[in-house]
Amino acid sequence: MKFNTKAMHANAIHDNQFGTHVTPLYQSSTFIFDDCAQGGDRFAGRDSGYKYTRLGNPNTDEVANRMATLDETDAGLYTSTGMSAVSTTLMALMNAGDHFISSDCIYGGTVSVINKVIVNYGIDMNYVNVNDYELFRKSFRPNTKVVYIETPANPTLVLIDIKKIAEITHENGAVLVVDNTFMTPYLQRPITLGADVAVYSVTKYINGHGDVVGGIITGKKEYIDVIKNPYLLNLGGTGSPFDAWLVARGLKTLGLRMDRHCSNAMEVAQYLDAHPLVEVVHYPGLKSFPQYELAKEQMDGFGGMIAFELKGGFDAGEKLLNNLKLIALGVSLGGVDSLIQHPASMTHSAVPIDERIAGGITDGLVRISVGIEDVEDIIEDLEKGFTKL
Ligand SMILES: *Cc1c(COP(=O)(O)O)cnc(C)c1O
Repeated sequence: MKFNTKAMHANAIHDNQFGTHVTPLYQSSTFIFDDCAQGGDRFAGRDSGYKYTRLGNPNTDEVANRMATLDETDAGLYTSTGMSAVSTTLMALMNAGDHFISSDCIYGGTVSVINKVIVNYGIDMNYVNVNDYELFRKSFRPNTKVVYIETPANPTLVLIDIKKIAEITHENGAVLVVDNTFMTPYLQRPITLGADVAVYSVTKYINGHGDVVGGIITGKKEYIDVIKNPYLLNLGGTGSPFDAWLVARGLKTLGLRMDRHCSNAMEVAQYLDAHPLVEVVHYPGLKSFPQYELAKEQMDGFGGMIAFELKGGFDAGEKLLNNLKLIALGVSLGGVDSLIQHPASMTHSAVPIDERIAGGITDGLVRISVGIEDVEDIIEDLEKGFTKL
């Protein structure tokens, strides 16, 4: 089966009692046993039936297994949020005394959980520009257990060659984890490129409709088994059945949506690239993008995220966004409708200016998550905003 067929049908649950066409919602916190012996068998692992939703549920399993199939790997787990996927994975793969390396440009929430939580458990780490392979190789220590990367990186869309990083990681006896939220399995399958575990915020493209927060972990069985038990089941980051049911619905149209996100984003990127008030456009699909060749090789499409730099700096960013009517101002990304954000005046307004600029968040940087509206309407909205600058 090919991707779109699998996104609809793989690992589907068939309800034999009523013959429902669509997987029913199993919104039940616990499951009833026929007798004590059956309860005993389930808790002892002799019977794989369900016991209690924190420990497993048909809806969360369905979407996790389907994602594992789409990622062409062994197993998957559904979690309450993308952050619970990230934090549970990191906690499961390391113990006190271990060290890990993270690429230096990763999601802000991941930076927070590393700096404020993970390091409190006796785990040491370094943020490294892993695209500098010599520096990356030198960053390994005898106790380095994990390498964590995100590609494309947020907000600069800098890419990391997963194959190359997997090679170096494995030479050093560590495990490679990739946050694949921006790409989804439709555009990039990290495990087939050599990674061991992939993590997702399904809040974004996977669910795609802006009405769920959730996460997924996929990967090789030896790692997923330990992330699940004892970590996920006891830390309690299990997601809700209703959310998983919605995510399974969103997943059915992932391929269709991603095709449209990609084609719309390409047109918007070209429009911005030609605009006299725009200094530079960061979009992997533009020939001017420094890693255009890697993008073509590693990804099956260039995605729906664009960052661009306004010549007019901070004021221009604020003015442009305040004059948009269709494109909504907000964080998050990957939904069917377009969202835009100006980090300097919004998400990073409280960050000291030197620190913000050192992190690549310049005054005029704008990030747009290009939706699947008619692209003419997206461009017209931007054009009207630009006339106010
Ligand atoms: C949003 C996001 C997360 C965190 O996911 P939540 O569902 O918000 O917890 C992690 N990584 C990336 C790349 C994201 O965009």
